[in-house]
Amino acid sequence: MIPYGKQDIEQHDIDAVVEVLKSDFLTQGPYVPKLEKLIASNVNAAEAVATNSATSALHVACLSLGLSKGDYIWTSPISFVASANCGLYCGACVDFIDIDSETYNICPHALAKKLESAKLDNRLPKILVAVHLTGQSCNMEQIRRLCNIYGVRIIEDASHAIGGRYQDYPIGCCRYCDITVFSFHPVKIITTGEGGMATTNNLELANRMRLLRSHGITRRNEDLTNERDGPWYYEQQELGYNYRMTDIHAALGISQLKRLQEFVSRRNELALRYDKLLSDLPVLTPWQHPDCYSARHLYIVRIPNDSSKISRDEVFLEMINQGISVNVHYIPIHTQPFYKKMGFQENDFPNSIKYYQEAITLPLFPSLTEKEQNYIVSSLKRALNQ
Ligand SMILES: *Cc1c(COP(=O)(O)O)cnc(C)c1O
Repeated sequence: MIPYGKQDIEQHDIDAVVEVLKSDFLTQGPYVPKLEKLIASNVNAAEAVATNSATSALHVACLSLGLSKGDYIWTSPISFVASANCGLYCGACVDFIDIDSETYNICPHALAKKLESAKLDNRLPKILVAVHLTGQSCNMEQIRRLCNIYGVRIIEDASHAIGGRYQDYPIGCCRYCDITVFSFHPVKIITTGEGGMATTNNLELANRMRLLRSHGITRRNEDLTNERDGPWYYEQQELGYNYRMTDIHAALGISQLKRLQEFVSRRNELALRYDKLLSDLPVLTPWQHPDCYSARHLYIVRIPNDSSKISRDEVFLEMINQGISVNVHYIPIHTQPFYKKMGFQENDFPNSIKYYQEAITLPLFPSLTEKEQNYIVSSLKRALNQ
């Protein structure tokens, strides 16, 4: 089977991990702060806070922005459930904004309308989680302008997007948001095994996230609020979590980061090659906004839903039969049983539902060969009877 995504591990990655295993610290040693510094400088942000997943980074990001019970948080229905669950962890209510039919990211017009009516109902959200689906940035300039009008804070869920750019700024520089979150899960652009990172230009938010990722406990002299009992003294100031990244994971991340540009270029090269090879087929290839240089985490095509033609569902099964692990990203979050219980109806977000019926993710990862890619394309042709 050709998988839809796959990590790319070389000997230097393995050596980096082994070196940590032979050292004095497996966690809370020198590698985590080193990875944080490297990511911060790579994406041009002042601060970076490493965590054991993007999910936990989203959680501490929400907490650091003060999200709590009675608040609202909005995100896109077309994302992984973690983009919404982070709000529920904080006791907030989750709601969604429909996607734009071209980029599959949050639609700024839908956002504008929803903000207007939420203001009238006194239900404005505290946070908007803007998801950069497939690695292509949302229209952050518009989103930021709207959120500024209504006083909404912004988290960019850039789990797909490290190495990408928006208006020629690196994603993660937080020009248009308060906090950006990256994922280092193995299918994403670079990996630490499991791991995540939050970047920000706000030192206060960074310090809160650092506190929350480690039990809410500090022992840094300058942060203590009580007089010390002695040199052993530590202090719990908030209810935090154990969301720390280990040095083993960080060492892998440092090693992987060296090839970030190589990974992203190769992904773009393969994506453009798909665009060409698929140009004669009755499928919609991913449209790219000229402001965006995408990290190309996922290559998603749409099979137009037309009852006289072959459907996405048929194509999906046929591709699997031909040994290709295609996938669907994502089932709209509001249609998950857990979210349905909150009262969401399928057609609350019609663009997302239509997208979901048509989308299929073709394999894309740096070590995919042109020969494999040709096979994927000819299988798709066969599946479509072309
Ligand atoms: C993968 C992913 C996450 C969660 O990342 P983890 O590191 O696995 O916790 C969150 N949001 C999006 C959009 C993702 O793709």
